[in-house]
Amino acid sequence: MSDSKPSKLVIVGGGTAGWICAAAFARLMGKAIDIELVESEAIGTVGVGEATIPQIIRLNTILGLDERDFVKRTNGTFKLGIEFVDWGKPGSKYLHTFGDAGMSLASVPFHQYWSRAASLGHDKDLWHYSLHQVAADQARFGKLDRVGNTSMTGLAYAYHFDASLYAAYLREFSEERGVTRTEGIVSAVARDAQSGDITSITLESGKEVKGDFFIDCTGFRALLLGQELGVGYQDWSHWLPCNSAQAVPSERLDTLVPFTRATAKQAGWQWRIPLQHRTGNGHVYCSDFITDEAAGDVLLEGLDTKPLADPRTIRFTTGRREQFWSHNCAGIGLASGFLEPLESTSIHLIQSQVSRLLQLFPTSKDASKERAEYNQRCSNEFEQIRDFLILHYHQTEREDSEFWRYCKNMKVPDSLTHKMELFASSGRIGRDADDLFREASWVQVMLGQGITPRGYDPMANCLTDAELTEFLGNVRKLIERAVGSLPSHEAFLAQ
Ligand SMILES: Cc1cc2nc3c(=O)[nH]c(=O)nc-3n(C[C@H](O)[C@H](O)[C@H](O)COP(=O)(O)OP(=O)(O)OC[C@H]3O[C@@H](n4cnc5c(N)ncnc54)[C@H](O)[C@@H]3O)c2cc1C
Repeated sequence: MSDSKPSKLVIVGGGTAGWICAAAFARLMGKAIDIELVESEAIGTVGVGEATIPQIIRLNTILGLDERDFVKRTNGTFKLGIEFVDWGKPGSKYLHTFGDAGMSLASVPFHQYWSRAASLGHDKDLWHYSLHQVAADQARFGKLDRVGNTSMTGLAYAYHFDASLYAAYLREFSEERGVTRTEGIVSAVARDAQSGDITSITLESGKEVKGDFFIDCTGFRALLLGQELGVGYQDWSHWLPCNSAQAVPSERLDTLVPFTRATAKQAGWQWRIPLQHRTGNGHVYCSDFITDEAAGDVLLEGLDTKPLADPRTIRFTTGRREQFWSHNCAGIGLASGFLEPLESTSIHLIQSQVSRLLQLFPTSKDASKERAEYNQRCSNEFEQIRDFLILHYHQTEREDSEFWRYCKNMKVPDSLTHKMELFASSGRIGRDADDLFREASWVQVMLGQGITPRGYDPMANCLTDAELTEFLGNVRKLIERAVGSLPSHEAFLAQ
């Protein structure tokens, strides 16, 4: 590296993480820096990761991707949320939508009015007033910024897509913008004797690739950050015990519903992701509580359509690297840690790590301040998402298997206990300002998992009982009208 700033960036790994990094750096720093990505077709990618959250739209906007082209090329579909089946107790069901239920009034969130109505004997659940729920029930989707002329927000959405097509799409985008791709297996890493910084990697072919800054996108191997630089791993299995997954594609669904489904099973849960050409399925489980063979049977029994291949097993340990950036190397994607896919957060973590790295990219040889800031912000983000995931497992009435008894009775982080107790008391949410999950998300999952607040915000008393009934009725009517004007998800995709 020159004394001033890095001029050559080397990305090792060409999975979703590697190619998102390449695309973002090419788009935003391509004129200032040379970018080379090294990947190995022989090693391949993890090959899963097909459900996203709405923040991906920001990434696509920054990259300048055309949505129609993007959805078409990745066989994508639209996603309004995740349906959780059998989580709070067997037979229960709720949709964690990307939007708000109803609309706030006088700065009081809608769920507080609904809570007050419930205390008066009103029997409709919160989702009766959710635009997303009503659209999902009818398998409808369309672009809707606002409901009628009201302040009720419209449809917030994300995508499902084919992971391999997505990586190929970003590869094409990156190569067109000057990223050099090098094929080969990294077999050695050279470091500066004084600073310990990485200076080059050598491939099995003998080719040496030099760089000033390295991004480790080698997946669970964490070849540079973990193996070479020796950065340790914080294991969070005691809170998020699932450590295995079996994934299998199946035929496409007859009706393309605009949501992911996550169904709780005896020792984990099963996902169903509807794509245009097939359905993605997987069973995430803890191998301490079920054998691989039995887990495979659970997966196949839970399919809605005919399997198209044999299940593939993937092992993981939930947790994070002690540091996300060490020396002149940042780990992004699975190399930086893993939070299981229950809320589809991994691709978002890649995106936010890349944008953070761009914001804090070294401007001189000494990047210790930027590195410290980066590590702190990444740690916070991982911990916030971790707590949200634990909530799904811990807040349950399920006691029908050893796995669920463990989850129900485990000690959870104090930060989460506080949030649950606050909500149980008055339906209020105590979240950090920079928490990825909005108040509406916490409310839906708390309620969906079975916490009923004992009280409600006294400001919700600003309406008389009759006004409250009228308000709820009007909200529902507006939603029905808005959803009625949407095309089916299938028809929207066909456009
Ligand atoms: C079961 C499961 C389900 C998931 N579902 C979702 C989901 O629904 N939504 C979501 O957002 N995320 C999901 N994820 C996470 C998502 O799959 C990953 O975040 C994403 O695929 C990024 O992976 P990656 O690029 O970090 O690693 P990988 O895909 O493993 O890529 C690693 C790359 O490094 C290369 N490599 C490794 N070693 C070497 C070497 N020695 N030399 C050269 N190259 C090397 C490989 O060839 C490959 O190109 C899921 C993960 C799992 C395990």
